[in-house]
Amino acid sequence: MRPIEDFCCQNIECPDRGIRGRGNLKFAGWSGHKKALRMIRCRTCRGRFSERTGTALAGSQLPLDKTLAVLDHIREGCGTLSTARLVGVGKNTVTRYLRLAGAQGRKLHEELVAFSPSHPSGADG
Ligand SMILES: [Zn+2]
Repeated sequence: MRPIEDFCCQNIECPDRGIRGRGNLKFAGWSGHKKALRMIRCRTCRGRFSERTGTALAGSQLPLDKTLAVLDHIREGCGTLSTARLVGVGKNTVTRYLRLAGAQGRKLHEELVAFSPSHPSGADG
């Protein structure tokens, strides 16, 4: 289980949104089916969100192992139909997770690379 410090506030109006390691986040109970998801509270904006908010797993109805199997197969280069067949889900499910993971990958790239102070398009460039 990832430590709370690895997360960041997801509230678009929060000054600490997207900034990790600020010490502003705190465990705020359990949520989801079987109460398996942690809720996180931001001390800065008092917002509350699930540990899956802002990830490709947000709102996922599949069991976590199946969701990760879909993403693992895609990452290894399996096509949509073969992934659906191997994991035992519908092709539309594979397409949905592919789209979600792609959007999440773009956000992560922008956070880690595109807006880095050492990158030419960052704050200095
Ligand atoms: Zn916040």
